[in-house]
Amino acid sequence: MDITAPRGTNDIMPYEVRKWQYLEEQIRSICRRYDYKEIRTPIFEETVLFQRGIGDITDIVEKEMYTFIDRAERSMTLRPEGTAPVVRSYLEHKMYGGPQPIKLYYMGPMFRYERPQAGRYRQFHQFGAEVIGACVPEVDAEVIDLAMHLYYSLGLDELELQINSIGCPLCRGKYREVLRAALAGHRESLCSNCARRYERNPLRMLDCKEKRCKEIMTDIPSIHEYLCDECADHFQRLQGYLNALSISYVINPKLVRGFDYYAKTVFEVIYRGLGAQDAIGGGGRYDGLIETYGGPSTPAVGFAAGIERILLTLERLGKELPFQSQLDVYMIILNEAGKKLGLPLLKDIRGRGFKADIDYMGRSLKSQMKAANRRGARFVVIIGEDELSKGKAIIRNMKVGTEEEVPFDEVVERFIEIRLETDQGVLMCRRR
Ligand SMILES: [Zn+2]
Ligand SMILES: [Zn+2]
Repeated sequence: MDITAPRGTNDIMPYEVRKWQYLEEQIRSICRRYDYKEIRTPIFEETVLFQRGIGDITDIVEKEMYTFIDRAERSMTLRPEGTAPVVRSYLEHKMYGGPQPIKLYYMGPMFRYERPQAGRYRQFHQFGAEVIGACVPEVDAEVIDLAMHLYYSLGLDELELQINSIGCPLCRGKYREVLRAALAGHRESLCSNCARRYERNPLRMLDCKEKRCKEIMTDIPSIHEYLCDECADHFQRLQGYLNALSISYVINPKLVRGFDYYAKTVFEVIYRGLGAQDAIGGGGRYDGLIETYGGPSTPAVGFAAGIERILLTLERLGKELPFQSQLDVYMIILNEAGKKLGLPLLKDIRGRGFKADIDYMGRSLKSQMKAANRRGARFVVIIGEDELSKGKAIIRNMKVGTEEEVPFDEVVERFIEIRLETDQGVLMCRRR
């Protein structure tokens, strides 16, 4: 066949999907404990949602969106990020009417027309958490805590949390002028992106990855000297809460985020080994976003992480996820008559929550035993000529090598017994 998956997209194959499922379960479990509720928004939205929210001079809106005209000639866009849709939903469903803050999380595919490379794809997946309706730094600390909790739970403990404050429209305006003044003499040497940012979005110049821009930015004044009292206090208190929660962090005064709607707190979680694209998650406060949609002035803070980036980082660090792929039970039936008894038994075993399978290809006992081993089966149930005449099945414990004969109608009970005997069900039972 000459048709392949589109460039920058991936089939997530069965041997990888278990990692995805593990990670997704971990995310759900942590969000449940922090009492964040899942929200599922559409895969495509009206283009204007992202133009207004993300800002038209960001890379995303300028050159990375999958935008199309639908059959009724409306401009639609495959979502490139998750925050704008969540905010749209918050406003559309008047969630501001109930008790605040609203704590939400989402998970799913996002789309950006980028040059594909390791950990960066055109269809990629994000997990994000948003807290809407509270402006206190405790909430910023909770979102950061939730993010770090996820990374730690995956065994990613060599990460660096960077935090910064980019001020509010009030104090940032002043700092923009300071930046422009400091860089006025360097305008000729800036990269083409920064040349454009200079006028419209000078803060973005701070985190430019171009070498010469980086050099120029080394000794420009820090934004912290220009924060208003409210922003400085917010940033101070955030640090106090992070300390209280034993979350270590580094203050990076050049950390800004790609989106225009951020204010005050911004943060990124960095893994040093990923090279240029080292952030495996990040977020910040976007107090200004909801107003840009015509909603009531509402503070909010959020975090997003790329699923592919997390998995790639785990792989590069050689971290194994503790999922179980083995079978509990592999059933071997050696004759036609045995199937009438064996198949309902298999159904019962599965019905009681055990992971069980059978060979349908009529292979020899020897090759079926090999298959059971290869699949890590903990127990094999054998029904042969002999067993059939005695009305019994053999249960073989593959780990210890012991065998016992058990009447057909007691096999399921026996497995339940074994499960109870086994250390809180860890051996036989699903991971909780
Ligand atoms: Zn301020
Ligand atoms: Zn630059």
